[in-house]
Amino acid sequence: MKRNDVYDVVIIGSGPAGLSAAIYTSRALLKTLVFSSVAYSPQVVLTDIIENYPGFSEGINGFELIERMKQQAVKFGAEFVESEVMKIEQKEKNFLVYTQDDFIETKSVIIATGRRNKKLGVENEEKFIGRGISYCAICDAQLFKDKVVTVVGGGDTAFTEAIYLTKFVKKLYLVHRRNEFRATKILQERLKQKDNVEFLTPYIVEKLIGDEKISAVLLKNVELGEQKEMFCDGVFVCIGHQPNTDFVKNLLDLDEDGYIITDDKLETSVRGIFACGDCRKGSIKQVICAAAEGAKAALAVEKFLEK
Ligand SMILES: Cc1cc2nc3c(=O)[nH]c(=O)nc-3n(C[C@H](O)[C@H](O)[C@H](O)COP(=O)(O)OP(=O)(O)OC[C@H]3O[C@@H](n4cnc5c(N)ncnc54)[C@H](O)[C@@H]3O)c2cc1C
Repeated sequence: MKRNDVYDVVIIGSGPAGLSAAIYTSRALLKTLVFSSVAYSPQVVLTDIIENYPGFSEGINGFELIERMKQQAVKFGAEFVESEVMKIEQKEKNFLVYTQDDFIETKSVIIATGRRNKKLGVENEEKFIGRGISYCAICDAQLFKDKVVTVVGGGDTAFTEAIYLTKFVKKLYLVHRRNEFRATKILQERLKQKDNVEFLTPYIVEKLIGDEKISAVLLKNVELGEQKEMFCDGVFVCIGHQPNTDFVKNLLDLDEDGYIITDDKLETSVRGIFACGDCRKGSIKQVICAAAEGAKAALAVEKFLEK
């Protein structure tokens, strides 16, 4: 990245959406710079195996898929910088994109910053991060070999994480606030077949208990009000997501949950700034859809720059 260069497009995010956009823009000979943040890894690397991305009948590891996409973009000339974007400012027709200690000028921007896990919001959660609280089974499962863990959540992510964890742990409690689950049927069936899993519904986590590390969770039955303390060594929180869009909240129109609002060409409320993938309102939160939106945003940028 050279301070005095003006890029055709800066892409913020190097998950499937950002990388797919980078492949298209760099292949179209647009001068392309991609930012990624070490604070938030692409969600796809948090999963062991992607089984539903076309072309990989045996499935593909999330990290490997991202690496392959990145190599493809590098091959066509895209530049990469690992630095979190803090702010975007308009400078006449162009934009200034700021990181912690630098900035760069560009004619257009594609935001592909994805989303991250929501926190439980109970006392001691911050204190126990890395000491029993986790938001990523792939990252931390090894730490809980032959131990007892609680997974909180009822959607696809919670079930995917739980299925992965069953390979490591002695016992797994799946805690969900409703009796029904949003997870797809195939995931529900797979988890129900595991003999080290117990489902606890309709419960919420009231409190995390422990001194240096988590030793138990206090659960509350939301129908009966009754509480019970369950011994466990770890808690995996999988209760939903929030988009990584704080840095544009004063610049772009966002919905009430913080997702970026775009038109059908994926252009945001500011001309020349486009958004794609999981950070965008209404997108389908899957790798193939994020990649498709990245391509669509890139083609829209090409058209925008021709004008
Ligand atoms: C556990 C789990 C399992 C999943 N399994 C599947 C599956 O089997 N199949 C499937 O199709 N989908 C799956 N998904 C969903 C899939 O991972 C996402 O839909 C997809 O990764 C979205 O891509 P994205 O590029 O929009 O965002 P992400 O992959 O989240 O990438 C966002 C990028 O933005 C960067 N970033 C964020 N903020 C900033 C900033 N301020 N500055 C610079 N960079 C920033 C991050 O570093 C990252 O590179 C799974 C998700 C999870 C969490």
